Amino acid sequence: MKVLVINCGSSSLKYQVLEMETEELLCKGLVERIGIDGSVIKHEKIGMDKWVLETPMKDHKDAIGHVLNALTDPEHGVAKSMDEIGAVGHRVVHAGEKYAGSVLITDDVIKALEECIDLAPLHNPANLQGIAACKALMPNTPMVGVFDTAFHQTMPAESYLYALPYEYYTKYGVRRYGFHGTSHRYVSLKAAEMLGKKPEDLKIITCHLGNGASLAAVCGGKVFDTSMGFTPVAGLVMGTRCGDIDPAILGYVAAKEGKDLAAMDKVINKESGVYGLSGVSSDFRDVENAANEGNEQAATALKVYAHRVKSYIGAYMAEMNGCDAIVFTAGLGENGITMRKAICENLENLGIELCDERNNVRGKDTVISKDSSKVKILLIPTNEELMIAKDTYEIVTGK
Ligand code: AMP
Repeated sequence: MKVLVINCGSSSLKYQVLEMETEELLCKGLVERIGIDGSVIKHEKIGMDKWVLETPMKDHKDAIGHVLNALTDPEHGVAKSMDEIGAVGHRVVHAGEKYAGSVLITDDVIKALEECIDLAPLHNPANLQGIAACKALMPNTPMVGVFDTAFHQTMPAESYLYALPYEYYTKYGVRRYGFHGTSHRYVSLKAAEMLGKKPEDLKIITCHLGNGASLAAVCGGKVFDTSMGFTPVAGLVMGTRCGDIDPAILGYVAAKEGKDLAAMDKVINKESGVYGLSGVSSDFRDVENAANEGNEQAATALKVYAHRVKSYIGAYMAEMNGCDAIVFTAGLGENGITMRKAICENLENLGIELCDERNNVRGKDTVISKDSSKVKILLIPTNEELMIAKDTYEIVTGK
């Protein structure tokens, strides 16, 4: 069966088609500038050159219409007709406390996801538009929702509750939800496979270090804690997000700078992180280059970044009473050789020993710890699309 995976943003859309019997990627693509001038679809059948088509697309339905045309194109397509696409898997950011796993999309599910718009106002509406467009264009094809928050739903109350008045949780759903769940799930399962053990028998700390970044403590295959919170701004230092700060800073700086809450929200989401700290860039490569050229502020930003990851690793080892493996994934986790070294430095007393030679690698499944390291350190490129496709296939076929 071929499964179409869709990840809808507000003005863009990423997609892939996978052949599930072999888990082979058949094609992938990106639609950009949906609803604005210069709409474009960039489609790539694996093994062929990219096919780029600029054509007006007024909304997500138009965009998905063009995706379906590309999928069935005689030259660039991967299916003779739409009937060959057995199911669609949608990435959805927020399912609140409703779903702890992926589900077949029904009208009730759509209603539940609409109720979560308040919790993810930038993401859920776009995800729902993608679902509505597929429903209109392929009414007989089953669809599955795969949620970023779902894997974290196993967290106990001591991990997810904030020490605020309890009624904010019961009335407004103010709690830690966590994000990047599909990635944490994929790499924790892959880590178990690489270590030849069952997920139930392992304590793993998964480090998803991309533009957005989060850690998860995965104990016996279930998330015990994660660093992102009510929103994805919490936890680690990120490209432009501040991660954990003293909450009183917001009011203090707002008063000093004459900013309102919306302006402060922009500061913590778009103007902070390594970008704000270094004054150079949100891209770690630029910050590393600047640091190598003697920019001390950039060097300090990287130190703050590594320090925060380290402190979460320590916290999660304490929470789980140990750890069998640490996994690095996403852009920086997969490629940042010096950052991985900085994070793992001086952790020998915790049984964490990185091997410099093995660490000199990018983007492939591999063990990068010394043989003597009690805690195995793994590098695993994430593959959220494959995880979405697998869930979709399993739910639709019951296999
Ligand atoms: P992602 O959000 O997973 O695509 O990750 C994007 C981040 O990965 C960017 O901010 C880059 O700074 C970082 N990144 C990608 N390649 C490298 C590299 N070779 N070295 C260091 N950082 C990298």
